[in-house]
Amino acid sequence: MSSKDFYSVLGISKDASDEQIKKTYKKLAFKYHPDRNQGDKKSEEKFKEINEAYQILGDSERRSQYDTFGSAGFEGGGFPGGGFPGGRGFPDLEDLMDGFFNQGRTRSSSSRSSSSRSTRSKGRDIREELVLEFQEAVKGTKKNVSIRRAKSYKMCNACDGNGQVNYSQGFFSISRSCGSCGGVGAFPEKTENKTVEIKVPAGVDTGTRLRIRNEGDIGFDSGPNGDLYIDMIVKDHPFFSREEENIVCEIPISIPQAIIGGKIDIPTLDGKSELKIPSGIQPGQIMRLRGKGIKILNSSGYGDLFVKLNIVIPSKISDKQRMLMEEFQEEIEKDSKNPISEYLAKIKNFFN
Ligand SMILES: [Zn+2]
Repeated sequence: MSSKDFYSVLGISKDASDEQIKKTYKKLAFKYHPDRNQGDKKSEEKFKEINEAYQILGDSERRSQYDTFGSAGFEGGGFPGGGFPGGRGFPDLEDLMDGFFNQGRTRSSSSRSSSSRSTRSKGRDIREELVLEFQEAVKGTKKNVSIRRAKSYKMCNACDGNGQVNYSQGFFSISRSCGSCGGVGAFPEKTENKTVEIKVPAGVDTGTRLRIRNEGDIGFDSGPNGDLYIDMIVKDHPFFSREEENIVCEIPISIPQAIIGGKIDIPTLDGKSELKIPSGIQPGQIMRLRGKGIKILNSSGYGDLFVKLNIVIPSKISDKQRMLMEEFQEEIEKDSKNPISEYLAKIKNFFN
């Protein structure tokens, strides 16, 4: 039986910390969540895989079992509920936002569909998504978001505005939350369109949620307004990929550059920059530029920029290039300390 690699499903290394696993899972689950990708079969499949992986790797006992025995012991069964609220085996979109992973379950008023409200006169919260360019997310920006919110209310007739309805069963009078208004006691009557300016701090990522107080539905019975929650979605960048607060970019270099070193142009968050590379670069070698990464959210620190150097082997060369390469090869063979010359000497002795 082939063993599934749950680490590669999440795109993390085997020594990833619990915190890294959670963060990565949260980000991927948000990206591929069925509520955001309706009818998209690929996302659905990916979402299933991510959840399967997290049900193992997100639990320290199952993870160590998996590290020892592989996925075989986990086939088929799945985990009822998977530890997620609602017992669906995967989290609601809301649950992927702040708060869910810290404790068992205290659903704040952030849920628009929240049925049990403690302060009945508070307006409903509103949730919006904000799509940002990579650069906007890492540098911070200001954005206008248009919302539509309740401005006035009319009383719910089904419960006379109480939010509760009473019914009798035998000798008992039982009250339950009103089904018509969801226990609120009122319906929005008039709505208004509003543009809210959002200050996006530097360092946000897909899955970051901002809360803007008082910009939700207007309160009723002179209660406070609801809040506005903005969920960030950050677009990919042509050069950079993001790993937490670090940035990774791959730069092609030529064979001569790898051998003798030199200066290359690289993209940074602050524009084009010149990078001096030493001689003797090996394939896939990574150079680290400290502090050139992304500003850490709610901190003054910065991540790093990792430049991965890919040595490009040309498949077509000119006559002149061929001549130079042949000359170069002759020189290599003359140099007895070169690993290739050493190898040639070895193989010659071995078969003699
Ligand atoms: Zn009602």
